[in-house]
Amino acid sequence: MKIIFHKDFHKTYTTDPAAAEGRLKPAEKKLRRSFDFVSAQPAKLIDIERVHTKTHIRDVQRATQVYPLALLAAGGTLQAARLALAGQPAFALVRPPGHHASPNSCWGFCYFNNIAVAVATLLDEGLIATALILDIDLHFGDGTDNTFDARQEVEYLHPEGSNNKDWLAECRRELDAAKPADLIAVSAGFDRHIEDWGTTLETESYRTIGSWVKDWAEQHCRNRMFAVLEGGYNHETLADAAQALAEGMQESR
Ligand SMILES: [Zn+2]
Repeated sequence: MKIIFHKDFHKTYTTDPAAAEGRLKPAEKKLRRSFDFVSAQPAKLIDIERVHTKTHIRDVQRATQVYPLALLAAGGTLQAARLALAGQPAFALVRPPGHHASPNSCWGFCYFNNIAVAVATLLDEGLIATALILDIDLHFGDGTDNTFDARQEVEYLHPEGSNNKDWLAECRRELDAAKPADLIAVSAGFDRHIEDWGTTLETESYRTIGSWVKDWAEQHCRNRMFAVLEGGYNHETLADAAQALAEGMQESR
């Protein structure tokens, strides 16, 4: 497991909770003890343009504090996807998040859709023909869904469940029912944690999810899997859940 990160992700680029001061500090500290870090590189405009319209890109460019970090977050996620393709599981610890960014609009603390840019790039380059996206964030990734709505080659899952047990059961059902694909990507929001906004999932559940993703990847796509941070606003539990997910992606159950 490689962690894609950059010290600039500690910059406070807006006043929203995803940009909160110190949000990624506990996660960085914790993950550094167990995993190798790779420095994130900014995405190329050509890759952003695979998903977003020129109008939307211009709007983000006008947010001068946000733009360089939005490029870095998308680029770091693409690096994670390329590592995954080479059989090296990876987690992109990045911000701003992306799953509420649609081709021509964004909201919910998102600007460019990191996971969509990464998956679309691998598809466009002919490196994969199909992908499965599992979104474990509290919120539905409307941006990701809108991006791939017309593209049959990408399946998007967003399990719902009002308590820990029901949510896990739904996640299991959806993974079991998913079509085989060339790669599995996880939109890893941790705001569904029991001590975060969603008050649902235990820390250990993220380990379970990670191990299911690994099992799925081994079974269907030669272990090609990556995850990218989305939401998660309790800084301490974000760290615990990210660690559990990353460890789970290295363990089979
Ligand atoms: Zn969320």
